[in-house]
Parts: sequence; structure tokens; C-alpha cells
Amino acid sequence: MSIEVKNITKIYGQQKALDDVSFKINSGEIVGFLGPNGAGKSTMMKIITGFIPPSSGDVFVNEMDAIEQSLEIRKIIGYLPENNPLYHDMYVKEYLEFVAGIYKLGKASKNRIDEIVELTGLTIEQKKKIGALSKGYKQRVGLAQALIHNPEVLILDEPTSGLDPNQIIEIRNLIMKIGKQKTIMLSTHIMQEVEAICDRTIIINNGKIVADDETGNYQKQYADKYQTIIVEFSTKVEMSAIEKISGVVKVKQLNQNNWLIQSKPDIDIRPEIFNFAVKNNLTVLAMQKKEKKLEDVFHELTLKN
Ligand code: ADP
Ligand code: MG
Repeated sequence: MSIEVKNITKIYGQQKALDDVSFKINSGEIVGFLGPNGAGKSTMMKIITGFIPPSSGDVFVNEMDAIEQSLEIRKIIGYLPENNPLYHDMYVKEYLEFVAGIYKLGKASKNRIDEIVELTGLTIEQKKKIGALSKGYKQRVGLAQALIHNPEVLILDEPTSGLDPNQIIEIRNLIMKIGKQKTIMLSTHIMQEVEAICDRTIIINNGKIVADDETGNYQKQYADKYQTIIVEFSTKVEMSAIEKISGVVKVKQLNQNNWLIQSKPDIDIRPEIFNFAVKNNLTVLAMQKKEKKLEDVFHELTLKN
């Protein structure tokens, strides 16, 4: 079950919210749609789920045209909209029955609701009014409504936004559990979220895709031109002496005894630094390799334009 987005542009009045966006999500992938606020994430998700039309371009879900066959598409997509709109006066079960009714689940709905209540961890809260639930449990209800018709594709718009750290972990675990059988696209502006759950991350900024790669590849692909080591020696050292260490490209003094030492990315100069210290009667108090995080990559990609 794939999602294919081809040259989608969306213009609101004068504003281009999406500008010629294309990507493909394959069956079984969990893909993160990462971008700052206003990047166009929700707009893209509303178009994929058939809630709003694009200004131009095509979307295919399981090879069906999302615009022309939007009713068909909705049967195979589960959608958790931004801010998870729910009926707060309804009871959890009553709401899920209502949603099951929309999907015309008929007789199967009772079993399906029980199954989903169990899967989303709502069992102990199922008799409460939605308005009385904590935000984390409301989010579980949102996921339950998205899953009720057993869709193969899930579109989750900022599923953990506004939750506390424990709730975030619970919802992430739930998404990963569900993701074993489904194709998932989830949006977020939090780098750690994609690092924690997504196989692949598409980064969007100002309505344009600025990167699309396996999440683990970002660090590698955009790694510094240098390998950076931060060292603390026990006593004062001359910069010129450090510069002479084999493999060193650049040296910067951070403060009295702390140094930032850079080498080419393909060599590890830590043993050389250590030997240098031994030869010069210095003690290495600390030595640390500075990793470039996805967070740095995200800032680079979304702040420069
Ligand atoms: P994100 O979900 O990444 O925060 P959105 O897709 O909500 O971004 O918004 C993208 C841009 O389109 C924003 O600048 C937003 O102000 C604008 N926008 C979104 N919806 C509308 C709308 N209904 N009318 C006018 N502008 C909109
Ligand atoms: Mg949004």
C-alpha cells in the first residue's frame, strides 16, 4: 500500500503553502514528515487524505487517485488530524461506535471496537467521557478512531504534540507497534521523534522538500567535512604543538586547557592525540568525539533559506 505524491502545489490566496512537492512512500514504511511550523505538513496531509484539493499535481494512494476517488481512499486511510478534534461530550465507546458507524462496520463493529480499545490501551478508560480524559488518553482515542476500519495507511499529523514526556514515549511505542503492519506517514517538528520512530525522514521547509533519506543516513550524508574531537589537557599546551599532531587539520582553543581538534572525517586521530599527550607529559582529562546530530542537519536545512 503506497502513497505517491507528484508535483503537488497548493496556493492559499497569494501564498504558496506547497511548491511542487513529490515523494513516494512504500508499503510498510514509517516515514517522518519533519519541518518547522508553517512548512506545509498539515496541508500535505489534508491533500493526501482527500480533505482539501491541491492547486495542481496528483496524489495516488494504492494507485487510486486521491482527488477523484477520495471516498474510496478514505476507506483505506486512517487519519489523525492536527490537534486531534474529538467530541468531548461523548463517551469513549460511544464515540468509537459512532466512527464505526461512519465506516459502516455493521455487526463486526463490536468486536472491532473491543480489539482497538485493547490495542490502544483504552480498556480502563473506555467508559469515561472523552472530555474527562488526560491529553495522552485523548490521543489514544484519536489513534483508535484512525484505526477502527483497519486501514492499511495511517496519516498522523503531529501525534505527540502537547503531550508530557511519559505520554510521548507511550504514544511513540504504540505507533511503532501499529507500524509493524501498516504504512505510516507522521508529521512532527521534533527531530527526536523521527529519530525514535521513523525509518525514513522527509524534511520540508517553506513548502518545499529539502531532504529525503533514511533517518540514519542524515548524519552520514551531511557529516562535517571534518571529524571533531574535544580534548581537555591537564596543563597549558602551545597551539602550534597540537597543530603538528599527525592528521590534524584545524585547531581551536575553547578555553585555557580545552581544545577543539579537527581532522579529515575518515581517520580517528584520538590515538595520535593520546600519544602526543604521553610524549609531552600531559594528562588527558577528557576526550570526546563530537557527533553531528540530526538536529544540526535539520537546522542547516531549514534555516538557511
Ligand atoms: P504546518 O502543518 O507545517 O505547520 P500548514 O500546512 O498548516 O503548515 O501551513 C502551511 C502554510 O499555509 C502556513 O504558512 C499557513 O499559514 C498557510 N495556511 C494553512 N492553511 C491555510 C488556510 N486555510 N488559509 C490560508 N493559509 C493557510
Ligand atoms: Mg501542522
